[in-house]
Amino acid sequence: MKIYQLEMSDVFASLHSGPEGLSPLEADRRLKEYGLNCIPVVRQTPLWLQFFYELTHFFSLILWVAAALAFLSEWADPGKGMAKVGYAVVIVIIISALFSFWQEYRIEKTLAALQKLLPTRVKTIRDNLITIIPAEQLVPGDVILLEQGDNVPADARVIEAYTLRVNNATITGESHVQSRNAKVCIQDSLLSANNVLLAGTVVVSGEGKAIVFATGMQSEFGKIAHLTQHSKDEVSPLRKEVAYVSYLIAAIAIVLGISFFIVGHFLGIPLWQDAIFAIGILIAMVPEGFLPTLTLSLVLAAQRMVKRNVLIRHLPAIEALGSTTVICTDKTGTLTQNCMTVEQLVLGITCFDRADINKTSPEIVINHLFFECAAYCHDLHGSQNETWLGDPMEVALLQMAKSCLPTLESGERLHTIPFDSDRMRLSIVQQYDAGVRLFCKGAPESVLPLCTSILINGKLISLDEKNKKRLIQLQLDMAEKGLRVLAFACKNIEAANAHLASESELTCCGLVGLDDPPRPEVPAAIARCLEAGVHVIMITGDHPRTAVTIAQKINLLHDNHPLVITGDQLHHFSMTQLQLALDNPQIIFARVKAEQKMRIVQALKMKGHIVAVTGDGVNDAPALKSAHIGIAMGMSGTDVARSTADMILLDDNFASIVNGIEEGRAVFANIRKFLTYVLAHNVPELMPYLGFVLFKIPLALTPLQILAIDMGSDSLTALGLGVESPNPELMRKPPRPINERLMNPFLAMRAYCFLGLMEAIVAMGAFFYVLMRGGWHYGQVLAHNNPLYLQATTAYLSTIIVMQIVNVYLCRSTRRSLFSIGLGGNALITWGVLLEIIVLIVINYTPLGNYLLDTAPLPLSVWVFILPFAFILLALEELRKAWMRR
Ligand code: ADP
Ligand code: MG
Repeated sequence: MKIYQLEMSDVFASLHSGPEGLSPLEADRRLKEYGLNCIPVVRQTPLWLQFFYELTHFFSLILWVAAALAFLSEWADPGKGMAKVGYAVVIVIIISALFSFWQEYRIEKTLAALQKLLPTRVKTIRDNLITIIPAEQLVPGDVILLEQGDNVPADARVIEAYTLRVNNATITGESHVQSRNAKVCIQDSLLSANNVLLAGTVVVSGEGKAIVFATGMQSEFGKIAHLTQHSKDEVSPLRKEVAYVSYLIAAIAIVLGISFFIVGHFLGIPLWQDAIFAIGILIAMVPEGFLPTLTLSLVLAAQRMVKRNVLIRHLPAIEALGSTTVICTDKTGTLTQNCMTVEQLVLGITCFDRADINKTSPEIVINHLFFECAAYCHDLHGSQNETWLGDPMEVALLQMAKSCLPTLESGERLHTIPFDSDRMRLSIVQQYDAGVRLFCKGAPESVLPLCTSILINGKLISLDEKNKKRLIQLQLDMAEKGLRVLAFACKNIEAANAHLASESELTCCGLVGLDDPPRPEVPAAIARCLEAGVHVIMITGDHPRTAVTIAQKINLLHDNHPLVITGDQLHHFSMTQLQLALDNPQIIFARVKAEQKMRIVQALKMKGHIVAVTGDGVNDAPALKSAHIGIAMGMSGTDVARSTADMILLDDNFASIVNGIEEGRAVFANIRKFLTYVLAHNVPELMPYLGFVLFKIPLALTPLQILAIDMGSDSLTALGLGVESPNPELMRKPPRPINERLMNPFLAMRAYCFLGLMEAIVAMGAFFYVLMRGGWHYGQVLAHNNPLYLQATTAYLSTIIVMQIVNVYLCRSTRRSLFSIGLGGNALITWGVLLEIIVLIVINYTPLGNYLLDTAPLPLSVWVFILPFAFILLALEELRKAWMRR
């Protein structure tokens, strides 16, 4: 018989387990036998194929063409050293490919490691104690507890269920909600059995207990895992942007290369020399390290973010974060500490404050129903070490009840009508020796309408309008102080009808006001958002007054006229009205339902905002999905929210979102720094070829020497710029417009026409200086191995390297002075500069360097000529920055 056709006792027997769960020892044994409850990731493309892709990506193809040209001209005109160029280019292609390949591999590993930081945890019963363990360690026979928002961690047979409903879309493909119960099932299909929970599906509502019968690859999900493991390759905007820049650069390279080849041909330049132009131009223009640097930049940002409690689930989210214009944030737990203390009670209609609460005076004790409600009406689980697992608010209420009424009547829970943020209340049915009682607690707006009577000093009287008004006023007073207010109610029901109990004709027992102070870091984070031009909109299920008071405490409101929109009002708003309302910068949404969150997100998107939204519950999933950046809570959130989110706040803290934005902005800024640096050296790399064809200037830089810069001297410094940590200037500007190009006119002008041009002029100057010193006159043709010519090209090459050493520091900021940034702070750049210096020494003063790159040692006088210009470059750029900062 199948497991879903068995009676409960047979289920336990067949799995050698029981309602008290497995013993830890037995669980350990089974873990060894059945293995971890996880599904190994299968690699999509084999490694060698991935490497092959790297060899044939866009820039590599251009370089292949250059290499082919070199071999072609060697073949046509042997002995001119073109084969050496060809081999060098091939080596460059392979090195670049290895580098990108290694990057991609590292990304995979890093992302996998990041995901592991937040393992899914399950409440398991072992030896009759609730223990929280990583889902990986579940074994067949484990008894687990599941509730709304949990991912089902393994295939399990239901033991107990309270309005338990699941969505099996991930397994069956049908996305509709089905209810689950513990009854024996006669059908013959595991997938449709009403008493089975399948791994990989989600609990949409309710709660239940179940016993695991299949884990890992044995589960239904495991069996089909290889089918569903297709990674969707989203192309992020930044990648698109990078592709655009790449194509642009490549197009220029190809057009220039071909036209100079043709022009050279008509000028009667021999083929091998003509080929050098084409090769040189192609090599000069291709920014070899661009793509790997981009990915590295994103990954390192993701790693830095984890240290700041932001876990990125999709890399593209990082850049979207950087352009975020509005954050829609929850209040409880994100802006506040979610650390509740009971501040005030209303028993009947009499107020008591904290001092009274601990005094167990008769007028308090007489309200035992109130405290029973606080003690029983919750969703907490007792755990191993006598602490309670669950909502801190409920823990606070339970503790208050215990301290006020040491002698609580105990009983057994029969039934739960779970809390969700739309109902805003929770009810339970509790059985006593004497009878059965329903307890309900929730937002007063939700609970009071269900009440027909009220308990005042132990006497039951009908709840008239006057008392209702009174209660509402008391709620307002508490909310004014920033307290979260709950109403308690109860009723007696007949034991026979316990399961039909409805939340109606209740007796109100009173109100409770809980204080949840703001997180201390939040006001500063709000101020940073203000400075960075990012709007913050609070969206809460709490009372409008509470929301406003908290907003004032964290300086979210700058004057006393905020626009507070409640869920009820929002219900009547059209999209247009909502969009208009959102024009008001000081807007707060209170008492909204989760599904309304999505409408707010959509309205903001329609207004052209880049929206980040936080969420923790099941009902938040649509909003998380529809926002540009869905943010789930690492500590308090549900699995469902976490698996739809793009990023996860490990500490649930609003301030971490702002840190995330800063890191996101840094990535974009870094790519620009990198690009400026690399485009700048492209100009002096290109100049010799223009000079040769247009002005018959001897070729000042050979293709091999270009490679020595791109792949050698500048490689580390460029990478270093790509991975800079955020600087404070980033959060003082408004967000980058989403359609702003990576390579904007400012960047192109600065790189090509300012930094690059200056480098080219100085390098040309050094080149001529050496030639003139050696007695060269214009028009004289130099053999390609003439010592004077070798020294002159060495001067050109060395100048570029020297200038780039200065330039790397200039590129660290577009506005800030080198004197305020300093030279340190980026190890990669420091190492990179060291590399530049080593390369300078090797190409000048070692025989091997001289041989490989056709160079000759420079005398001191040339260095004396070059160095002042490096400082002039620095001075000019500092002047420009000062002018921009003015
Ligand atoms: P928030 O935006 O502050 O997270 P919620 O959606 O969690 O708001 O809660 C909305 C309202 O529901 C609260 O103001 C409170 O009145 C009520 N509420 C919250 N949690 C519970 C609970 N565990 N039991 C009963 N009522 C609750
Ligand atoms: Mg909440």
